[in-house]
Amino acid sequence: MRAQPKASHFIDGEYIEDAAGTPFESIYPATGEVIARLHAATPAIVEKAIASARRAQKEWAAMSPTARGRILKRAAEIMRERNRELSELETLDTGKPIQETIVADPTSGADAFEFFGGIAAAGLNGDYIPLGQDFAFTKRVPLGVCVGIGAWNYPQQIACWKGAPALVCGNAMVFKPSENTPLGALKIAEILIEAGLPKGLYNVIQGDRSTGPLLVNHKDVAKVSLTGSVPTGKKVAGAAASDLKHVTMELGGKSPLIVFDDADLESAIGGAMLGNFYSTGQVCSNGTRVFVQKGIKQQFLTRLKERTEKIVIGDPLDEATQLGPMVSKAQRDKVLDYIEKGKAEGATLVTGGGIPNDVSAEGTYIQPTVFADVTDDMTIAREEIFGPVMCVLDFDHEDEVIERGNATEFGLSGGVFTSDITRAHRVVDQLEAGTLWINTYNLAPVEIPFGGSKQSGFGRENSLAALEHYSELKTVYVSMGKVEAPY
Ligand code: NAD
Repeated sequence: MRAQPKASHFIDGEYIEDAAGTPFESIYPATGEVIARLHAATPAIVEKAIASARRAQKEWAAMSPTARGRILKRAAEIMRERNRELSELETLDTGKPIQETIVADPTSGADAFEFFGGIAAAGLNGDYIPLGQDFAFTKRVPLGVCVGIGAWNYPQQIACWKGAPALVCGNAMVFKPSENTPLGALKIAEILIEAGLPKGLYNVIQGDRSTGPLLVNHKDVAKVSLTGSVPTGKKVAGAAASDLKHVTMELGGKSPLIVFDDADLESAIGGAMLGNFYSTGQVCSNGTRVFVQKGIKQQFLTRLKERTEKIVIGDPLDEATQLGPMVSKAQRDKVLDYIEKGKAEGATLVTGGGIPNDVSAEGTYIQPTVFADVTDDMTIAREEIFGPVMCVLDFDHEDEVIERGNATEFGLSGGVFTSDITRAHRVVDQLEAGTLWINTYNLAPVEIPFGGSKQSGFGRENSLAALEHYSELKTVYVSMGKVEAPY
């Protein structure tokens, strides 16, 4: 087994196994090969992880932010030095092509450690509030033990995007990766220890939807940050609410990407392809409803089809491969079902729609697929597919497309391609979403806040905004005089 870790969990600075936990396998989606065998966490492992985090957190919080930041910056350096090794592991874990993981996965995790490590010294200051002769000041204090629960599309990135702001604010984290992609987070935990992080502050435990609640419901947990689907988000937020725990919810989407007839066509097509086919379409912020103004529809579809059919599908470890398999057979079958629904409900299949030839029969591959003539009421236009399926819808007018773009319970992101800059701003102003792009799509550098509105969630990851979600303000009023009481 080529990616077998030393043990399933990483707690208090070391690998630990508990063979009493439910066994599960980690599968390389390109070939179906078993690459690791692990155990889900038992309640005893959960207790151990939370207890060690709780113990370690107090001392960590007492350190200066600069000292904490230095460790995170060192972790970023180590991740960059090991980018190739980590990217190969990410490719084995997820099936995403090495061409992507080498530029987008460990590197974006390292960016988070570098960014939050770098702002530690200045970003955690409080305020001084003059009140005449009296004054008040605020302190930004950590929450305590934070739980991170990850999805399977960006396992290393998610482990770092949650870990970095949590740690810099003085919290400890217990992270549970998705059961589909258990391996990357263990390496992040190892690297943090190597960078000098005291033991217990970043623990990783394995498990699935039955393990998650043990963490979410634990009385010693102060905050839960979930990346996952809307139905899971509702369950987790509901459970966390019973103890009024802090929550960040990074959930799903069905985002509109709007192409006006004055757009740079090649850029718009490139943006739409990146926003539907990158990571085999397994990206929460994807612009899966591509609204194209009627005048350019044919041109758009002709070039989109040409470019889509040139996408290189194959072995994810081959540098030339542009599209790998889906993360699992279950996910691939779900996407194939949606494709059948698209056909049955009358959408026009422009390209793709099935399983490609010339790939391992055991791999969970699927062709990049484009549907045209999609209408707002079709299942494929309403539900999150989470696979490489682009829906192209036509529109006539600006007001119409804004209204249709917003007609969804999701609100994660959106984009507009146009050469009219005032129109671009008018449109993004009215689109109901947490992150919007003008003349590009899906760029999420660590400097900018990322997160959803409506049912796509709440809270923000990355940027200074994330600090507010891993800390709280303590206000201190200081009197300089005597107390004047009326009695
Ligand atoms: P999922 O909701 O099935 O699982 C997410 C995680 O939650 C997994 O680790 C799972 O084990 C855990 N989980 C499931 N039920 C739980 C429960 N009741 N209590 C606690 N934990 C529980 O999602 P997925 O299939 O792994 O990922 C795909 C989804 O994630 C898509 O909807 C996608 O849009 C979303 N996503 C969102 C973002 C974002 O930043 N907004 C990023 C990536 C993925």
